Amino acid sequence: MEKEKLLYLETFGCQMNVDDSEKIVSMLNRSGYQSTVNPSLADLIILNTCSVRAKAEQKLYSSLGRFKDLKKNNERLIVGVGGCVAQKEGERLLKKAPFVSFVFGTHNLHLVANMVSAAQEGQRLTNVDFIDNDTRLDLFPQSEADGRVSRFVTIMQGCDNYCSYCIVPFVRGREISRRSSDILDEIRRMADKDVKEVTLLGQNVNSYGLKSQGECDFSELLHKVSAIDGIERIRFTTSHPKDLSPSLISCFADMSKLCGHIHLPAQSGSDAILAKMERGYCRKEYLKNIEALKKARPDIQITGDIIVGFPGETEEDFLQTLSLIEEVEYADQFSFIFSVRPETKAASFCDNVTYREKQERLSRLQTLQKQITLERNKSFVGSIQNVLVEGRSKRGDQLSGRTDGNRIVNFTGELSLVGSFVSVRITKAFQNSFLGEYKQVSE
Ligand code: SAM
Ligand code: SF4
Repeated sequence: MEKEKLLYLETFGCQMNVDDSEKIVSMLNRSGYQSTVNPSLADLIILNTCSVRAKAEQKLYSSLGRFKDLKKNNERLIVGVGGCVAQKEGERLLKKAPFVSFVFGTHNLHLVANMVSAAQEGQRLTNVDFIDNDTRLDLFPQSEADGRVSRFVTIMQGCDNYCSYCIVPFVRGREISRRSSDILDEIRRMADKDVKEVTLLGQNVNSYGLKSQGECDFSELLHKVSAIDGIERIRFTTSHPKDLSPSLISCFADMSKLCGHIHLPAQSGSDAILAKMERGYCRKEYLKNIEALKKARPDIQITGDIIVGFPGETEEDFLQTLSLIEEVEYADQFSFIFSVRPETKAASFCDNVTYREKQERLSRLQTLQKQITLERNKSFVGSIQNVLVEGRSKRGDQLSGRTDGNRIVNFTGELSLVGSFVSVRITKAFQNSFLGEYKQVSE
């Protein structure tokens, strides 16, 4: 009997990369690979990389360092690199890391199984061609059922926004919306396999369909997804403040399946910095949207992303960002120090903010956000939350699920509850999760 082949896949970066990795695993399962969490047992190692910040990119090189020795001890081991760093570096990666067998770009996921076969024959190959036309729509690998009740669904790829600091448009290509008929078919198939919650993914989901003739827009797409029997919860990420239409805001008021959470990155609270970032909105417009969202869904949980230490950011600009955080009262925030990315406009901006100042600002911002998050979390203690049970908790001794507002709740209960909606009373609030007490299966 042929020995089972093992795949170790490491993913860096955003949810879109996580979704891509799941698709790579599905495709390689069909070629006879099973997943392992132990790279030293693997016959095939794939690294799905991120280049949004320099730090994320460096992670690839430290991982490659770890795997170099494995390759020395196992000549037959195949190592492949995909994702944004692969797209950016292409052929150069094969030169920098002679034990890497293949490099595939962000538009070439569909080629992975063939590249693995070629690597098994001893070839070393790169494929980082962009497919910036409708052919890309036919090459979207499909998600497969894997027993989970909550799944990602990529609805668009790439980005045309060219925020001045961001490498994404250069490594993910032009923005292209998937056909709504394909998206809905995929979600229907998921619903048939007991998926209850879908998260629609894209760099800028609320510009969905706007550039495709005859296609519906994002709010219409949400309504179509909502009409699918079996799908009980809909989420999406990421939405761009400049494309937040009144019709999308009213979905939060009218659509019971749409969860009460929006990730709406502001990036900065200062108009001067927003203009240099080329984000396409000002603080006042952003806050107007927040007000409208809170009116449409009073209990909405708002999360965001902030970049601190953008070139030229003064203390006054930074204080504007802190005051935005207080005014919006974000449920949580991802915050980053500005990282210079090649090819972007901001790479040529004169940066007079010292790294020490940037670190200090990040720490002040994170302290403030932590206080707000914990206070908000504490206000949930005693409330009954509707939780979709996703599986075991991280520690493994409890069940874990999420509230409608996307907060994690751990509680004691029977494993048979996985996949059900249950009422849970929140008994304790932590920084990143709640502890709860199971009451009953929800009506
Ligand atoms: N498309 C999404 C949007 O516009 O909000 C986000 C995509 S990006 C992968 C995720 C986050 O990384 C951004 O919201 C931004 O805060 C951060 N980011 C992007 N480029 C960065 C850079 N050069 N330095 C620091 N953070 C950056
Ligand atoms: Fe990057 Fe801006 Fe596109 Fe988001 S919208 S991916 S930050 S260019």
